[in-house]
Amino acid sequence: MPAEPLLALDGGPAIVPHGSLPTTNDAAGRTIGDEEEVAVLRVLRSGMLSGVWGTEVKALQSEFAEMMGSAHAVACSSGTAALHLAVAAVDPAPGDEIIVPPISDMGSVLPILAQNAIPVFADLDPATGCLDPEDVRRRITSRTRAIVVVHLFGGAAEVSELRRIADTAGVLLIEDCAQAYLTRETTHGPLVGTIGHLGCFSLQQTKHITTGDGGLVITDDEQLARSMRLFADKAWPRDTGERTYLSFALNYRMPELSGAVARVQLTKLQAVVERRRHSAYRLSDALEQLRGLTTPTPSGIHTYWYYPLMIDGLTHKELRWFAAALNAEGVPCVAGYIARPLYQEPVLREPTAYGGSGYPIRGRAEYPDGDCPVAEALVSERLLAIPWNENLTDQQVDAMAEAIVKVHEAVMPV
Ligand SMILES: *Cc1c(COP(=O)(O)O)cnc(C)c1O
Repeated sequence: MPAEPLLALDGGPAIVPHGSLPTTNDAAGRTIGDEEEVAVLRVLRSGMLSGVWGTEVKALQSEFAEMMGSAHAVACSSGTAALHLAVAAVDPAPGDEIIVPPISDMGSVLPILAQNAIPVFADLDPATGCLDPEDVRRRITSRTRAIVVVHLFGGAAEVSELRRIADTAGVLLIEDCAQAYLTRETTHGPLVGTIGHLGCFSLQQTKHITTGDGGLVITDDEQLARSMRLFADKAWPRDTGERTYLSFALNYRMPELSGAVARVQLTKLQAVVERRRHSAYRLSDALEQLRGLTTPTPSGIHTYWYYPLMIDGLTHKELRWFAAALNAEGVPCVAGYIARPLYQEPVLREPTAYGGSGYPIRGRAEYPDGDCPVAEALVSERLLAIPWNENLTDQQVDAMAEAIVKVHEAVMPV
């Protein structure tokens, strides 16, 4: 009888040499090249490093709006800032509610708190990890002012249905597309980010394209665009020539150097998405037959910021063991993606903002365990998140598949 292949976790050889895969932490896994160098030097030599008076950030805004097919784009300093611009444009009153998903970056939630509104969590579709429209409908109250939908990992939420729900309820739909550049809800449908009233993007180090930090918001609504431009610039209306401060606002401006790099990165985005898709489809094909595993939606929808595997039939401990074994084989991955659903984080459970008052949460909202059972199961025992990259070779993907098959055999023997 042939011996079972020895897992790297048990001292066997790793299938993928450790550290050999491209990651977003260095040049091998990014698309920064000569064109970005030229752009940065152009800005430095001009002596104008501020987007307020420079030309790069303005050009970036037009180019991104045009690429997305939106009337307006507003650049800012991060994805979290982009969401803050969007939430501030919604203009909730203190204690108003904004619906959000519990699996995301906390940047989807913090801007709601900053505007003194209450994050209300709705549960997720177990197949995609994105908002379940039915559960969103149940959580709408007379205090709801907006819905934030996250297109998790580059997959698409049911955003058209959420837009109908938002319109019926008379609230705004904010799309968090930080992980979902060029994602579509259907193969030939519109780009996500253009279906809601506002679409937010991040240029943080690990996203499809990057300036280290940076953000963009798109909208077709002139009023929303104007209030976001003001909110990012101390509500100083530069177009009027008058030094006045029209409303409460911050400084979330994107610097000119970032604008110049983002413009170049934007020209590479389509190719980044195509390469990520090519290798993700290759992995999905190799994993098709594995029992209990569900691979992400194929064909022109997903843009694979991460490659999410849903696994059914494991306990909390077994999923952690699966991830540890796969990491040992040289395939970086995270069980559950985040440590816990966002409503279990201290920032919401033990609210300490605003002088220890707990405002606006204390006395208005509670975040008990069990609030979103589908999300809890995903984080605890179903979701394996594999960071993806545009520079993976076919050979590397094949080795990753081999490692997953090997670990799967050990965890879920037939
Ligand atoms: C990265 C991310 C953010 C926050 O973006 P930053 O640029 O890091 O502030 C928000 N939402 C989602 C879904 C993200 O992935």
